[in-house]
Amino acid sequence: MLDIKNYVKVQSLEEAYELCQDRKNIIIGGMLWLKMQNRSVETAIDLCDLGLDTIVEKENEIHVGAMVTLRQLEQDHLLNDYTYGAMKESVRHIVGVQFRNLATVGGSLFGRYGFSDVLTMFMALDAYVELYHGGIIPIQEFANMRPTPDVLVRIIIKKSPLHVVYMSQRNTKTDFPVLTCAVSQINSDYTCTIGARPLKAVTFKDENHLLDSSLSDESIEALANDIAQKAVFGSNLRGSADYRRRISKVLIRRAFQQLREEKKS
Ligand SMILES: Cc1cc2nc3c(=O)[nH]c(=O)nc-3n(C[C@H](O)[C@H](O)[C@H](O)COP(=O)(O)OP(=O)(O)OC[C@H]3O[C@@H](n4cnc5c(N)ncnc54)[C@H](O)[C@@H]3O)c2cc1C
Repeated sequence: MLDIKNYVKVQSLEEAYELCQDRKNIIIGGMLWLKMQNRSVETAIDLCDLGLDTIVEKENEIHVGAMVTLRQLEQDHLLNDYTYGAMKESVRHIVGVQFRNLATVGGSLFGRYGFSDVLTMFMALDAYVELYHGGIIPIQEFANMRPTPDVLVRIIIKKSPLHVVYMSQRNTKTDFPVLTCAVSQINSDYTCTIGARPLKAVTFKDENHLLDSSLSDESIEALANDIAQKAVFGSNLRGSADYRRRISKVLIRRAFQQLREEKKS
């Protein structure tokens, strides 16, 4: 059971940062992950008064506040037009609507969970994470950093010519994913992000230029085989490493085929 002694709605990011330096205190998002834990918390730090629950379009960027819910990601027109609906696809399988109405982007990313659909999606967008103390850093770097006490303020997506497709494999609807896969073309660069390996997501670039300009089936197959060989997979109760490797080839192939269609439309 989660036991909380005090609750503070902070009035500034600085206040939140100061409070979270004490390991007995904890920042809360939707509390959906936290409430599963057995722990005693001195002070729960709520960011809900800081206006971080909005998705805002800037001239060259899209800012997604840490308190934005997964349901907002799913329904936001700006994000879904920009990502051809991939943002919605990345979150719509997570538990259910009531759950997604509470779970936040900050809570989903800060833990850098090995099963995360959300981390996979934002890594495919080559987004940036703004930390109050740590500053603005690429999400790829953030994913590999050891968690330090800091406040995740927002995610910054740099607007660029983009095509992106998101896919996941689940044993049963609403379960944790067995594998996540997001492929993207940002400017002229293709990437493929594989998550729920069940390790945290990792992004591969088409370094050897295996994809041809028409994204032919043969070139997609070659890249899918290459990534499936390079990626490290693990086993858990949802699937073995070998199963994940096989599934990865299928998801990568299907995702690039869908991306090819997306580019034609
Ligand atoms: C049963 C269940 C099934 C799930 N299935 C999936 C799934 O299929 N796919 C998927 O991607 N995810 C899944 N999740 C994860 C879920 O989507 C959320 O990511 C998770 O619950 C955390 O979101 P939250 O807002 O509730 O964060 P909380 O539980 O409130 O916080 C989680 C952690 O993040 C920290 N934190 C929160 N906000 C900030 C911030 N702004 N700055 C710094 N630290 C912060 C907290 O201190 C805590 O350590 C599942 C979770 C549960 C409980």
